[in-house]
Amino acid sequence: MMTISSQITPSAIQLPGTNCQIRANFSLADQTSYRVGGQAQWYAAPRSQEALEATFEWFEHQDIPLMLLGAGSNLLISDRGIDGLVISTRFLRHRKFDAETGRITVAAGDPIASVARKAAKRGWRGLEWAVGIPGTVGGAVVMNAGAHNQCTADCLIEAVVVSPDGTVEKLTPKDLNYSYRTSCLQGRQKLVLEATFELEMGFSPQEMMAITQQNLQRRKSSQPYDKPSCGSVFRNPTPHAAGWLIEQLGLKGYRIGDAEISQRHANFILNCGQAKAQDIFRLIRHVQEQVESRWSLLLEPEVKILGEFSSL
Ligand SMILES: Cc1cc2nc3c(=O)[nH]c(=O)nc-3n(C[C@H](O)[C@H](O)[C@H](O)COP(=O)(O)OP(=O)(O)OC[C@H]3O[C@@H](n4cnc5c(N)ncnc54)[C@H](O)[C@@H]3O)c2cc1C
Repeated sequence: MMTISSQITPSAIQLPGTNCQIRANFSLADQTSYRVGGQAQWYAAPRSQEALEATFEWFEHQDIPLMLLGAGSNLLISDRGIDGLVISTRFLRHRKFDAETGRITVAAGDPIASVARKAAKRGWRGLEWAVGIPGTVGGAVVMNAGAHNQCTADCLIEAVVVSPDGTVEKLTPKDLNYSYRTSCLQGRQKLVLEATFELEMGFSPQEMMAITQQNLQRRKSSQPYDKPSCGSVFRNPTPHAAGWLIEQLGLKGYRIGDAEISQRHANFILNCGQAKAQDIFRLIRHVQEQVESRWSLLLEPEVKILGEFSSL
């Protein structure tokens, strides 16, 4: 059994046999695309499987909660921070393209957009939708990220997940119980280590790159990319688009503190400068109340809201 042999500083624990530290009171704002949120009680960002195992070993001896973090592009973290251990998987990196099978095996921390661009450059089809998504492969697997009527579930064939006790499982899309922007991994203590996608080979790289460019252009012309956000805040309540419902209420530009409903796309809430997580949270609740009173419909957040917030 591994033990913690040294404390480098009172604010960090060095995990023996690795170059990984567990840091105390680590600010999470820079770890999220919203650029808001308080501190993690404990934070680790392992760069290897050995470092991850050592992190889990430390965690198994604590009686604290665990939270898993990718690129933080779908998270609203409370200004009061997160109790327990936050493990960021964004530095877990490896990538293998198999030209015999059209399979790509990538580690959780790889940006899904970068994998998509590399696949398109090879003339492989199936991930072009992912070029504008600012998250990691792990986040895409957990969220069933998607765009342009395609999603992760369409081309994923296997995800390798590990639990804090070291149990490793290989899960198929069926095991993951995929549906619109959900999987059975949400809210669970199972860390996605790597994923394998199967794409169609043999297309013209120029044609595939042109499609990725078109997808990016479409996004940039309809969505605000110039200010911090989490992308779409609410899930679309079929048959309506959440943005359309919010726009009908005249809420574009509505602001609480520095949090604002985007003028360009009403399902985006932007951090226009010094927004607090609490401002964004209040804006989410305000939109829910307005939509509910007009359409008797509860908009469900797509963004994961973590930690404690004050009710209105
Ligand atoms: C400008 C912008 C545009 C966006 N456009 C889209 C879009 O078109 N389509 C779309 O689907 N999403 C979109 N998003 C949202 C977001 O990018 C996706 O949900 C993405 O898949 C989240 O990945 P992430 O690595 O950032 O995950 P995070 O936000 O860090 O985490 C999301 C969830 O996954 C879990 N998680 C993350 N990594 C792991 C792991 N390795 N193991 C286990 N659990 C993990 C977290 O605990 C959390 O529950 C957009 C966001 C922004 C900011």
